Amino acid sequence: MRPRTFGLAVSLFLACACTRTTSSDTAPTAADAKKFIDDVNATTLKLATEASQAGWVAETYITGDTSALNARANQRFIDTLARYAKDAVRFDHTDVPPDLRRSLNLLKVALVMATPSDPREGEELTSIAANLDAAYGKGKWCEDPKKPESCLDINQITEIMRVSRDEKKLRQVWEGWHTISPSMRKDYARFVDLSNKGAKELGFPDTGAMWRSKYDMPADEFTKELDRLWDQVRPLYLKLHAYVRMKLREKYGDVVPANGPIPAHLLGNIWAQDWTNVYPLVAPKNSDPGYDLTAILKNRKLTPVDMVKTGERFYTSLGFSPLPQTFWERSMLVKPRDRDVVCHASAWDVDNVEDLRIKMCIEPTDENFRTIHHELGHNFYQRSYKDLPMLFRDSANDGFHEAIGDTIALSVTPEYLVKIGMIEKAPDSSRDIGLLMQRALEKIAFLPFGLLIDQWRWKVFSGEVKPDDYNKSWWDLRLKYQGVAPVAARSEEFFDPGAKYHVPGNVPYTRYFLADILQFQFHRALSQTAGCTSMLHRCSIYQSADAGKKLNDMLSMGLSQPWPEALTKIAGTKQMDASAILDYFKPLDTWLDEQIKGKPVGW
Ligand SMILES: [Zn+2]
Repeated sequence: MRPRTFGLAVSLFLACACTRTTSSDTAPTAADAKKFIDDVNATTLKLATEASQAGWVAETYITGDTSALNARANQRFIDTLARYAKDAVRFDHTDVPPDLRRSLNLLKVALVMATPSDPREGEELTSIAANLDAAYGKGKWCEDPKKPESCLDINQITEIMRVSRDEKKLRQVWEGWHTISPSMRKDYARFVDLSNKGAKELGFPDTGAMWRSKYDMPADEFTKELDRLWDQVRPLYLKLHAYVRMKLREKYGDVVPANGPIPAHLLGNIWAQDWTNVYPLVAPKNSDPGYDLTAILKNRKLTPVDMVKTGERFYTSLGFSPLPQTFWERSMLVKPRDRDVVCHASAWDVDNVEDLRIKMCIEPTDENFRTIHHELGHNFYQRSYKDLPMLFRDSANDGFHEAIGDTIALSVTPEYLVKIGMIEKAPDSSRDIGLLMQRALEKIAFLPFGLLIDQWRWKVFSGEVKPDDYNKSWWDLRLKYQGVAPVAARSEEFFDPGAKYHVPGNVPYTRYFLADILQFQFHRALSQTAGCTSMLHRCSIYQSADAGKKLNDMLSMGLSQPWPEALTKIAGTKQMDASAILDYFKPLDTWLDEQIKGKPVGW
């Protein structure tokens, strides 16, 4: 599973019904603005810490009481933040220094959902949002509604999609999961209307425009940037798509068209967003790397603490200080035997200073080993910006936080494993295609999906897509970007976007697309700094103090400057650039050309 969560303070910026401040008679001064922001920084630090403490206990000791305490602490934090966001509008015309202006702007765009000031509408929106979230959380498909034991939740569905190769079964389960969402459709339409109303009150045309305004550039320009990045990687995606389609056709026959879209239920994942699970069906010949990290970890009986210590050593080899003693005392690294916990891996900075922790149910597997490197990336980022004012204690944009851990995980190469004594010898480059294919099935396959979720939502929020066309426009985009289609028509009686958590959960998604692009750009730039001269996919920045310094220079800026400034610190440019992805996958790209020679490409 893609580890995607981090500290509460940065992930829970929602808004709710709140009081409107009456504008006072005298115009506010810069000194008033400073006092206001000082107060915001002090108060949010305190409330975010309380919310993190409650969240930690709620996720590592699940009971009705800890959930209630967590909900209460969150609500307090969210309400306060929402009140501040509306108060910030008061200083719109005050002449203030750049730092203060940035703080005021960040406050206004920190909201994911702005509620209308009409108390009745505000309450209605808050309760619809909670209902949508809960409807997804409780979502189950029951093959026989009379038999509760036949009901499957998303974890069980995910497992079937992962392992089953039975086309009929996969289709049944796929269609089954998509029965959880039609009931959300009406609520979602109302949710869109009300949240737009709230966004307008904050001065944005609609909620989608409010989300896009977080990126230090005009909303339209940002949309064009995303198109430009996608155009850079699209040719490689088309080749991967053509090759995978060909192999799936060999396996499943005519249900997979020779030159049309790939059926949405055959890619090993309910949303077709990660194709790693079909690797056995598409594995290149003679590409076994000759070692099995999972087996090595098991044979050597590495404990979870050993595995995390190994990850920590990667960061200290770059010049970062070791993790504090409290990290080892307070983290949850093993699944407890005596209680329920949330196992989904996450990194925490409970006091927003140095109470760093990870929460994970570690098993000795290759995948977990990478995830540890990923989660620690969040922790080292958090500690690097700890001295900034609270409003700046976050990543340069929301794509950066996820990208850092993944950047380090890209450095977990065979050569790195040799250096740390896990394997004796790195496989020669003839074996690379297998490793690159696995990585492409995860990272390249994800890109169009990472892009289209918000393409759909932005159109919905702006009114370009009306409720009568929700499902049609969803599948139009999935076809356009992913080249994926349902086997049977999906009319407007369904609401298929609702079967993906982030839609009913109202979590913006573009950050994951950005993270996928940025991590390769970071990896290439840092590898150059580290003096790596081999192929990019074999570069590891392990033990490079120079790369570590560059990385830390960027991390310690937090959110204090526009993200292009932060990007410059590592990449020497203010522009995001997906060409590093093409460099990284060059050998695979050449290999794919041979495989699909004379075969149809595109759909
Ligand atoms: Zn993460």
